[in-house]
Amino acid sequence: MLREEYDLLVVGGGPGGSTAALVGAREGLKVLLVDKRQEIGTPVRCAEALGFEQLEPYIAVDDRWIAAWIDAFRIVGPSGKSVRVPPTSPTAVVERKIFDRELANEAARAGATVRAMTRVTDVIRQDGYVVGAKMISLGREMEVRAKITIAADGAESQIGRWAGMKTTPRLEEYYSAAQYLLGGIRLEDPRECQYHVGNEVAPGGYAWVFPKGPDKANVGLVITLTHEKHGRSAQEYLNAFVERLYPEASILTMNLGGIPVGGTLKDIVGDGIMLVGDAAHQAEPVTGGGINLAMFAGDMAAKVAATAIRSGDWSRKKLEAYPAAWNKEHGRAVGAMAKARQIVLKFEDKRYDKLVDLAADLPLDKMSATDIILAVLRHDPSLLLYARGFIIPGI
Ligand SMILES: Cc1cc2nc3c(=O)[nH]c(=O)nc-3n(C[C@H](O)[C@H](O)[C@H](O)COP(=O)(O)OP(=O)(O)OC[C@H]3O[C@@H](n4cnc5c(N)ncnc54)[C@H](O)[C@@H]3O)c2cc1C
Repeated sequence: MLREEYDLLVVGGGPGGSTAALVGAREGLKVLLVDKRQEIGTPVRCAEALGFEQLEPYIAVDDRWIAAWIDAFRIVGPSGKSVRVPPTSPTAVVERKIFDRELANEAARAGATVRAMTRVTDVIRQDGYVVGAKMISLGREMEVRAKITIAADGAESQIGRWAGMKTTPRLEEYYSAAQYLLGGIRLEDPRECQYHVGNEVAPGGYAWVFPKGPDKANVGLVITLTHEKHGRSAQEYLNAFVERLYPEASILTMNLGGIPVGGTLKDIVGDGIMLVGDAAHQAEPVTGGGINLAMFAGDMAAKVAATAIRSGDWSRKKLEAYPAAWNKEHGRAVGAMAKARQIVLKFEDKRYDKLVDLAADLPLDKMSATDIILAVLRHDPSLLLYARGFIIPGI
């Protein structure tokens, strides 16, 4: 059995894990980043829309992973009425298979050791601490000891659970997703991302059309399984949506997945362990967007890990600085959006149309998706009857 020792073991080479490994290495830590996939970045289970604000500390923009720059988002209601919303920061639909690989390479360039095809099979615990993990690396059994383990192992995360943390979301806190990359289609505006809402289209979720060029797009949807009215799966809803919008389309790729959208887990640190990204349920609960947030969390976790290791204390108490920083910067907004999602889940179709009408009257050029949802709720507080205990920030 191979044995290795590191300061920081990062499990998962997605945006959260690679950023944690990159920042950890820049902090001077000896870092190992592992991913079970044969090729980091594939298969892609993402609609690939990415905001570029605050990205430059981690990766320089590169045409190789830009599929289409985006000028606007369009929200289409059940009646077909729509509203066009400009992005608040430069946004693109990216090629994640290249983006994720390049981000992992940034971590390697900063000094981290990166290993694909390395599946963690269990954590190693000692005196209540997680002290590393067992893994199969390129077919060989291996034991890695590390002062701190960062679990960035995505929506189906197991590392946290193996470490004894509560990570399983309830069914209603989970988006079930299906997506096709469609080819041979004609997009009216190849620089516009569309969001289609309504109970016929995607109950408890929404459908999207995100362009990847003039004749190609990620077309997918998320639904909430407990909310499903007609007993159909996400893929069946998607087939109906595609049949209606792009009956002639070719299907170039297909993927299914899930996103935990109930808001950040209560416990994201333990003795010697931290959870990051989808593993910590840090995605934005209404849209399910999680690339940027996973990266910000990876950055925060790695900086706290470095401070803890330098101080000689990586107990849970010391690592609590990470959830504290997360909650200050993003966690509260994610929590508010988790509550907003409970409201949206109960919308009837006429409510969705009203949302589109209300949004049309807002100064949209200065508002993020979160701002818009909160502003709509401020305009129509009767919507709050749908959710108990929801407080709109700013009222
Ligand atoms: C259909 C769909 C569409 C989406 N669209 C968007 C979008 O347009 N924009 C956006 O911002 N977000 C989107 N998201 C969400 C986004 O993909 C995630 O929030 C983001 O990828 C989270 O990053 P992460 O690093 O936490 O996890 P991931 O990107 O999931 O990476 C986790 C990694 O861990 C590895 N791993 C897991 N278990 C192990 C193990 N035992 N050993 C070793 N490695 C392991 C996996 O192979 C994987 O590479 C979408 C999600 C879905 C499902």
